[in-house]
Amino acid sequence: MSSPEALRPRRRPTPSVDVGGVLVGSAHPVVVQSMTNTDTADADATALQVARLAHAGSQLVRVTVNNEAAAAAVPEIVRLVRGLGVDVPIVGDFHYNGHQLLVAYPEMARALAKYRINPGNVGAKRHDENFATIVRVAVENDRPVRIGVNWGSLDQQLLTTLMEENARLATPRDARDVMIEAMLQSALRSAQLAEETGLRHDRIIVSAKVSGVRDLVDVYRLLAARCDYPLHLGLTEAGMATKGIVASTAGLAILLNEGIGDTIRVSLTPEPGAGRELEVEVAQQVLQSLGLRSFMPQVSACPGCGRTTSTFFQEMARDIQAYLRQRMPEWRTTHPGVEDLRVAVMGCVVNGPGESKHADIGISLPGTFEAPVAPVFVDGKLHDTFRGDDIVARFTALVEEYVDRRFPTPGSGAAAG
Ligand code: SF4
Repeated sequence: MSSPEALRPRRRPTPSVDVGGVLVGSAHPVVVQSMTNTDTADADATALQVARLAHAGSQLVRVTVNNEAAAAAVPEIVRLVRGLGVDVPIVGDFHYNGHQLLVAYPEMARALAKYRINPGNVGAKRHDENFATIVRVAVENDRPVRIGVNWGSLDQQLLTTLMEENARLATPRDARDVMIEAMLQSALRSAQLAEETGLRHDRIIVSAKVSGVRDLVDVYRLLAARCDYPLHLGLTEAGMATKGIVASTAGLAILLNEGIGDTIRVSLTPEPGAGRELEVEVAQQVLQSLGLRSFMPQVSACPGCGRTTSTFFQEMARDIQAYLRQRMPEWRTTHPGVEDLRVAVMGCVVNGPGESKHADIGISLPGTFEAPVAPVFVDGKLHDTFRGDDIVARFTALVEEYVDRRFPTPGSGAAAG
């Protein structure tokens, strides 16, 4: 069987872009990012959300900088976030007035680790001039830029020109193809203009987001073939809950598996009043499921069936998952490598022992008509048989022991078995 390393897709070669100390592109691990939805002018609320997203694992956090109050609040947000002991780079998202705000608020320009510019939203009349103004601020502050095209706000002038050219062809292309071509040209012409204005080649990240999975795949395959800039991937306006998660995962997985994508965001619409951390968890799970990165111990659990008529098995799978998540903030520093731990919680004898043997630690709970005992496997071998009311407590204690032994604390003198 091939090793996980050998199965990993080869990443497309790109320059490495330093975003406030986080390296994007080249062979660096695919970076997870997210975005706040607080009013940026509310520095306290925004700083808190930035910190929460960073705690959840977001390596870059973007905030909208949409008006003067937001621009004025950015330095304070960065101070508050650093005061909370969080060093995540904070990125500014600019539309319509970025060329004005970045010039009028130099402290804000310095406080941000990267600027996102949407070439469709820098003004139709003085498009190139406004765009170049933003790029000059980036050059002066030695900041990278993401040129982020979105087909909801595509450069209308460019689109109209391409549509007219297409209409004059003997065999006009499909309107969708012209739209995709307009996105690519908008992104790549803007990148060229940025370089002509003085921005280094390795200070540019490109994205071209759409809201359909098939379109996303086609756009990014073409973009990857036509440039070597690191690419930020994400399905824009992905939607809520299951739809948003599945659609984002489908699009990201196809591209990441082809080695396309250097940083990702899962743009979920949260439930009213809910936090934003779910989008970070989903992005991490996509990368971990593809074997590209490890963030969390993985729990394999069977779906259950008519052989598991009590809810005990579901509760145990849920509790173990929650336990591992709750332990991770500490384990991440005390037990490096623990994110590769594999745990199995299985519902009956049919697949339970087999799946448990494939995990680092596994438990096979008794199905409805089985003897009330739960064999426990460690490193593929039968280790013990649990019975009684304290199965969950004994199993979590065993997980703790295993983590201490297999992923020892650096400098503790303990040797991994
Ligand atoms: S392992 Fe057992 S309980 Fe789980 S789905 Fe398979 S047959 Fe059903």
